[in-house]
Amino acid sequence: MSDVSARLQKLVIASGNAGKIVEFRDYFTQLGINLIPKPDDIDVEETGLTFMANAHLKAAQVAIATNEWAIADDSGLEIDALNGAPGVLSARYAETDQARIDRVLQELSNISNRDARYVCAIAIAAPDGEIFADAIGTCEGAIALAPVGQGGFGYDPIFFVTELQKTFGEVSLEVKAKISHRAKALLLLQSKLKTLL
Ligand code: IMP
Repeated sequence: MSDVSARLQKLVIASGNAGKIVEFRDYFTQLGINLIPKPDDIDVEETGLTFMANAHLKAAQVAIATNEWAIADDSGLEIDALNGAPGVLSARYAETDQARIDRVLQELSNISNRDARYVCAIAIAAPDGEIFADAIGTCEGAIALAPVGQGGFGYDPIFFVTELQKTFGEVSLEVKAKISHRAKALLLLQSKLKTLL
């Protein structure tokens, strides 16, 4: 096991997704950890069949390539009536956010069961690539009949959150940060993270 006795001051984030980086940075700034984007030339192919497999893959490869502690998440939308699709293919379901939203709405056009959830797996790797901690969080909801709100990113305008009775497109970053799949995974990781501080 890698030595974690030195206080962790920075963490390289293995993601190029601006929306996700904003949500993570908010959390880690509060812990006094500087979140650094991964260098552009490091690209990890998401070949895993599960969110967790991809999170491990990305964290380990970016840690080794940078020789720094690294954090990665793999997340996405699971829709019950589509047998869990788009799942690990959420980012690749169509070319743009708008096209991905249109595809989901089209595929659900005659379907009354619109139950869905966001899932987020997070892994933290030591500079040698060893996985130090991981966790998975979910957020239950349903796919709206049409987009509502401009907030968040990705599928947020069509993700109607059961707990809020609103889409994630309609709420602030602060509200989303309390109950999102990403927030829940980070909460589960919290005690492990504290040992790095
Ligand atoms: P990846 O984890 O970078 O492979 O991609 C996750 C994809 O899932 C994103 O590009 C979005 O399409 C979708 N996704 C994951 N989390 C969220 C979220 O909080 N809001 C909206 N879309 C999300």
